[in-house]
Amino acid sequence: MPDNQSVDRLAIETVLDSLDALVYVADMDTHELLFLNAYGREKWGEPGARKCWQVLQKGQTGPCAFCTNPLLLDEEGMPTGVYRWEFRNTLTGRWYQCRDQATRWPDGRLVRIEIATDISDIKDLQDQLTQAQRQAEQLANEDALTGLANRRALFALGNAALEQARRQRHPVALISLDADHFKQINDRFGHAGGDAVLRALAGVLKQHTRAADVAARLGGEEFAILLPATGLDEARELAERLRAKIEALRLSHGKETILVTCSFGVTASQNGEASLDLLLNTADIATYRAKSTGRNRIEDQGWVQIGS
Ligand code: GH3
Ligand code: MG
Ligand code: MG
Repeated sequence: MPDNQSVDRLAIETVLDSLDALVYVADMDTHELLFLNAYGREKWGEPGARKCWQVLQKGQTGPCAFCTNPLLLDEEGMPTGVYRWEFRNTLTGRWYQCRDQATRWPDGRLVRIEIATDISDIKDLQDQLTQAQRQAEQLANEDALTGLANRRALFALGNAALEQARRQRHPVALISLDADHFKQINDRFGHAGGDAVLRALAGVLKQHTRAADVAARLGGEEFAILLPATGLDEARELAERLRAKIEALRLSHGKETILVTCSFGVTASQNGEASLDLLLNTADIATYRAKSTGRNRIEDQGWVQIGS
């Protein structure tokens, strides 16, 4: 017949063995594993007379660098209470929410008791959510076809750039462009051919703008570029470079080659004092003039005059 004490011990171990979590006890001095519940034995094997770092972790030749022992005792070596942390086990690769605590074992030595719950599924879900969130943010700000900023992002980034220009009293320029006879390109090469042209146009804009500039697809075959710290002459020069690059594009489409040109409108605002709406409308007027005067050209609407 077992004595009362060993019956108590068996009862407690039965309870600990029924837990769907790792429970172990390790000597804080020698790291010897004094107890490992059934969950732990099933995943990490029998402890034998081994140390926690030999049983529970991979390839350790001594105590783990991430051992929580120093966190569980104060300067006098007294237990500080419960310490909770998340950890990816080096043997199983699974994530655990750990609850560590230093306490006195019945024989008087200090031990670390850890209870660790597998949170890998929650972690996976969190990762998926973060990824979905990132994708949603990207979708909300990015034009899906070209990867350029969309109208919404142009307004968000553009308004911030204009505000900075007002504070720093530097000019802001805006170039608008619209593909010429794009309907004919679609009619001749199909919608996929048209899309390839839009992507190629976006490629030229990306390649010839600085990180601070905002190149956006406003919709259809219309684009705009907001240029912080840029005056009218500089913007016109950039528009001319873009016009020439686009005119020089040779897009292979099956056996055919697609050619495309764009009409440009340029304007700028001293000290960023115009609204983005006004800049866009002003550049649009110039773009229409470029269309009506022959296309594949640049029209300049001058500096936006506020209050005139
Ligand atoms: P203009 O030189 O006067 O600008 O003539 P245009 O033919 O370029 O202008 P219009 O506004 O008549 O036609 C624009 C065409 O762009 C019509 C529309 O079907 C096409 N379009 C709009 N969005 C897309 C798109 O995402 N992909 C493709 N392939 N075509 C598009
Ligand atoms: Mg158009
Ligand atoms: Mg057009």
